[in-house]
Amino acid sequence: MKSHLIFIGAPGSGKGTQASKFVSDRAFKHISTGDLLRSEIAKQSALGLEVKKVMDEGKLVSDDLVIRLLQANINLTESQYIFDGYPRNIAQAETLDREVLKGSASTAVYFDINMERLVERLTNRRTCKTCGAIYNLISKKPKVMGQCDQCGGTDLVQRADDKEEVITNRLKVFTETINPVLKYYQDLGRLMKVDAEAEVDAIFNKISSKV
Ligand code: AMP
Repeated sequence: MKSHLIFIGAPGSGKGTQASKFVSDRAFKHISTGDLLRSEIAKQSALGLEVKKVMDEGKLVSDDLVIRLLQANINLTESQYIFDGYPRNIAQAETLDREVLKGSASTAVYFDINMERLVERLTNRRTCKTCGAIYNLISKKPKVMGQCDQCGGTDLVQRADDKEEVITNRLKVFTETINPVLKYYQDLGRLMKVDAEAEVDAIFNKISSKV
């Protein structure tokens, strides 16, 4: 039976990096609600215009809007998914089980990390505008400065909400809402914890052994 993965972790805890390894090495599909919302903003759709201000302030977009966007972009019968950035609160965790997974097997993975390290990680994060590859100006520099190793693109950009003042708010929102979500999965026996500061491959192997 297919088992889906639910990645839970503060912004910058390495969920996106692990997700891209699961896509390339294990044929998972990666669904990030943050990416879906950013693409609506890039398209300047009505929905994108509605959420831009909320996201720019590091606050959470409404549950109703996010679930609609998620539902419109997945097909659970065809693929094994990594849910990244969803659920963000207990209501979303319950909705995911009730309206999306509907009994399909899933494991929630918590990326445990010291919050103080995150501000440094996030302010140095850069994303390739062309292919989405993620870099860090301190720990994972591109081979040629300013150029993507994967696609050669030369637009390595900082996300609008990776500015220090917004990051502080995003981390605050995360710590205020996530404990009930972790307890929810813990009580159901579906939670695994990983040390998000371990080596990328070690984290990958640990999660991989479960699915
Ligand atoms: P992320 O890329 O996961 O860090 O998300 C970036 C921003 O998108 C967040 O700060 C929220 O404003 C919004 N967002 C992403 N996922 C959700 C979600 N599940 N519920 C509400 N807002 C979300």
